[in-house]
Amino acid sequence: MSAGADRPEQRTTCPLDCPDACGVLVDVDERGGFVGLRGDALHPWSKGVLCGKTALYGEVVQAENRLLHPLIRRGESLERASWDEALDRIAAKIAPLGVGETLALSYGGSMGLVQRKYPNRVMNALGATHHDGGICDATADAGYQSVLGRVLGPDLDDVERADLLVLWGSDIARTVQHLQPRVKRLQERGVPVVVIDVWRTDTARDVERRGGRAFVIRPGTDAALALCLARLAFERGSVNRAYIEEHCLSASDFEAHARSAHDVAWTARTTGLAESEIADLARLVLAARHPFVKTGVGWTRRRNGGNSMRAVCALFAVLGHGERVHFESYAHFGLAEDVVHRPDLRPSRAPTESVSQVGLGRILESGRFRAAFVWCHDPAVTIPDSARFRRGFARDDLFTVVHDHFLTETAALADVVLPATMFVEHADLYRSYGHRAVQRSRAIAKPPGEARSNVETFAAIAKRLGLPRVTWDVTAEGLVDELLTASRERFTRAEFESVQRGEPVKLAPRSLDGFGTQSGRIELASDTLAASGSTRFPSYVPDESRDDRGAFQLVCAPSVHTHNATYSHSARHAKKAGKPRAFLNPSDVARLSIAAGDSVRLVNERAAVTLRAEADASMPSGTVRVDGLPRAADVPEGHGINALVSSGVSDLGGGNVLYSTRCDVVVMR
Ligand code: SF4
Repeated sequence: MSAGADRPEQRTTCPLDCPDACGVLVDVDERGGFVGLRGDALHPWSKGVLCGKTALYGEVVQAENRLLHPLIRRGESLERASWDEALDRIAAKIAPLGVGETLALSYGGSMGLVQRKYPNRVMNALGATHHDGGICDATADAGYQSVLGRVLGPDLDDVERADLLVLWGSDIARTVQHLQPRVKRLQERGVPVVVIDVWRTDTARDVERRGGRAFVIRPGTDAALALCLARLAFERGSVNRAYIEEHCLSASDFEAHARSAHDVAWTARTTGLAESEIADLARLVLAARHPFVKTGVGWTRRRNGGNSMRAVCALFAVLGHGERVHFESYAHFGLAEDVVHRPDLRPSRAPTESVSQVGLGRILESGRFRAAFVWCHDPAVTIPDSARFRRGFARDDLFTVVHDHFLTETAALADVVLPATMFVEHADLYRSYGHRAVQRSRAIAKPPGEARSNVETFAAIAKRLGLPRVTWDVTAEGLVDELLTASRERFTRAEFESVQRGEPVKLAPRSLDGFGTQSGRIELASDTLAASGSTRFPSYVPDESRDDRGAFQLVCAPSVHTHNATYSHSARHAKKAGKPRAFLNPSDVARLSIAAGDSVRLVNERAAVTLRAEADASMPSGTVRVDGLPRAADVPEGHGINALVSSGVSDLGGGNVLYSTRCDVVVMR
């Protein structure tokens, strides 16, 4: 069991909400105590390398501020309690409630299929209300599916066979770090790499160092650029007529739409690119015979994000590369995940509609719910209009239970707080939304204190509430078995045996009959969307709203050192990240007379957040960037950065409009 042994039972997967889903080896001592972790060289995608954040995960596992015991609210304070006391309190509050009065609040705190999803089996049996998951990829997913259908896309490993790589809104240096060495090899072979983004990202600067090109556009103008490139493709005869004939619906209508506007001069004015840059980009994109188009998610978190994704998908479809657009998704795996959360257990009177995750602040403030369970989620930090969420979550008439590793900002507001195990301490099954590997993991290290896994915790709650046996007579290992057995046809025999041994296994490609759209073809126009109030064609609609005013566009970028709300309780990670800052173009710094060491207040109609200012030439003038997700504890106003963000929804899929946020920048002295 010592370091270096590399036993199968020590293998697991990084559980963070990250497309790399890296292989991890965990070292424990003879009593099962956690010793350390490192990358697993056997993993087909991460090949033994962990990012800087997770390489330090041991500090999180062994952190002194981990929750070790249940806590119960007594007046203003949370006090230590036994599990029995906590479960009794929960049962007393939940048992009298009717269906739909309890809200289930989980998200991507762990991507393990069993630990994350099994609590929903209990929630389903209670008839609890779910949310729609709108704070991540709902918009991108809806936009992609409306054109290309089910999100399968190319295998990320195929990047190295491309003759052009387009990174559209994908800062892989911060979000898909294991793609970087593959991109480097590609560039060393002379293959062009193009980055399209709203600031000169770490990735943009990295590929530019090796001769790649970065095209920095105004936020929210992606569709304008994509439609201009589509128009140029039609004008120059670069479209693939045979492919269009075979696979695309409404191609001639779309051609007329693209040609009706979107000329180079208009596109330059709209996107902020020079006409010569558009010409250079068109030359590269239209000449490619086997491109790889890697899209991220963040660029679609806008009021017009669905149409932006539609336009990019349509562009590459008319070029004959519809299957070459990669968007982060699980669809490739096709696992029978319903067996874990069992929607069939819902009482017939239970609500079938979910509530908007983006609008949770407003919904909780309305007093609609009597109870809320939170796991794998720190919504007081991550939900838009977060100050409002806090007010709603802290209502006296809402009974709240949080299961987590630390006293998060959400847990600090709760009535009952339960200590959770970490990924090295419980069994699960993982799959990625980037690469195609799946992995079973066992509980490796002994949990500290009285920490319990999600499965143990929610099984105990279900039993105490007298719910059906199927909701509580379970173990994590048994649930993984259930899931694998129900998904058996997705694996070859060799793959299945390998997964059962705990090895990371890359699954063979899954094929679809047609594209999985309503028509089975690539839909360059959609009467269904038109009928629901959207545009028939993928269109550029300016990203504007009366809800979003202010001279600066706020760009919330992922942090290299933390991961959304995760790691914010690790002193080492927080030290590496430093105090949160507002990064501004040097010309804006000069215009606003911001001196070294000054703080600025980012302010809009919802809230104000004060941060230290820093000049950064990678930011275009008129934008202000904040890395990571500053929490209430990080800013003097006592609410996190998401207090600035509207709870409005995007044009498709009910997703968030995080990156449509505008604010003014006021110097504080
Ligand atoms: S956060 Fe992402 S890159 Fe880092 S170890 Fe986890 S899966 Fe890998």
